[in-house]
Amino acid sequence: MEKVLLLRYGEIHLKGLNRPYFERVLLSNIEKALEAYGDVKVIKAQGRYYIENLGDDPRIYDAVSRIFGIISFSPALKVEKSMDAIRKAAELQLKEAMEAQGDFNELTFKVESRRSDKSFPLNSMELSRVIGAHLLKNFSGIKVDVHQPMVTINIEIREWAYVYHRIISGAGGMPVGTNGKAALMLSGGIDSPVAGWMISKRGVKLTAVHFHSFPYTSDRSKEKVIELCRILTRYCGPIRLYVVPFTRIQQELYQKCPDNMLTLLMRRFMMKIGEIIAGKEGASVLITGESLGQVASQTLESLIVTDDAVSMPILRPLIGMDKIEIIDIAKEIDTYETSILPYEDCCTIFVPKHPLTKPRLDRIREAETLVEGEELIKEAVANVEVIDIKG
Ligand code: ATP
Ligand code: MG
Repeated sequence: MEKVLLLRYGEIHLKGLNRPYFERVLLSNIEKALEAYGDVKVIKAQGRYYIENLGDDPRIYDAVSRIFGIISFSPALKVEKSMDAIRKAAELQLKEAMEAQGDFNELTFKVESRRSDKSFPLNSMELSRVIGAHLLKNFSGIKVDVHQPMVTINIEIREWAYVYHRIISGAGGMPVGTNGKAALMLSGGIDSPVAGWMISKRGVKLTAVHFHSFPYTSDRSKEKVIELCRILTRYCGPIRLYVVPFTRIQQELYQKCPDNMLTLLMRRFMMKIGEIIAGKEGASVLITGESLGQVASQTLESLIVTDDAVSMPILRPLIGMDKIEIIDIAKEIDTYETSILPYEDCCTIFVPKHPLTKPRLDRIREAETLVEGEELIKEAVANVEVIDIKG
């Protein structure tokens, strides 16, 4: 009898011809995500993955629950396809389930079987009935409820027999790497890590771009962004982070352009530099954490001004979300606590007192010509720092 993990994947079934490719990428992502857990073995069989040689580090469950493409998973007992072994495994699983239930008067349960090996002597109905009767006979304080049982003992007859009672939700989404690559504009705030996570969940590999304003922003704020990347790698795989020196551009804009346009002009420069870095990285789109109306630079008019700076599409997965909804996700994916560390942000230093909320594109474009844009961008790109974050 061996303890294994049984992993189910969903959406990729729908992908028709691409399916073998998706399965290969997912397999490799699972292997990489579990590398740190010793000698685990990942086996693909009949629309499932099995993880064997689990070891006893409980963090492996968290690691599995973060892999995009997995819809659910179950810790299961893998046993021989003999009634004896299945009975024993069902007893153990019921015992575990009863302990997990805590207080109850009478525990309701049912047995549910699936048989993909048709040479097994009992069909699934018979198997459920026999094992159910066996459990009733051997445990007190339990009764069968086929409609809304507190516990379901699942039995699957495949190459081996698998017996389990827990089905744990996975991260869902699609395997990272099956849907291209994007450059995430990553500030140290709450929103952008969530935006990156959401797009990566759809199978997109990430590279990150951060604008740093040394000495106005400290090394601590850079460390914070590195830490955010590190948290994201648990879901998204390795991330290459580009740290772009942004001080010179901000100072030039500050000295030469109208104060109320500063944020928007900065944003346009960020996008232009992001587009260049994305190009180098083979990323085809940019991602930001913008949400409609959240601040002056995120009104419809402002977003149009930002879009105009680049030809690359900008994905804004948070566009229709409230801050509270975004915070909920940030907490769930564990970026929140790091995001709220109170270090300076490059945009809070040169903030205009009265930023435009209804900017006119022609005026912004005109103001932009007051600085040597191309040169400033070239200089910034030439001085980027590249940090590979493996997790
Ligand atoms: P966040 O919480 O992600 O910082 P925010 O609500 O503070 O977002 P802004 O500061 O207006 O919003 O930034 C909007 C978006 O612009 C961010 O979500 C991010 O994608 C990008 N951005 C802002 N500052 C930086 C930066 N220093 N480096 C990289 N991208 C940035
Ligand atoms: Mg911010």
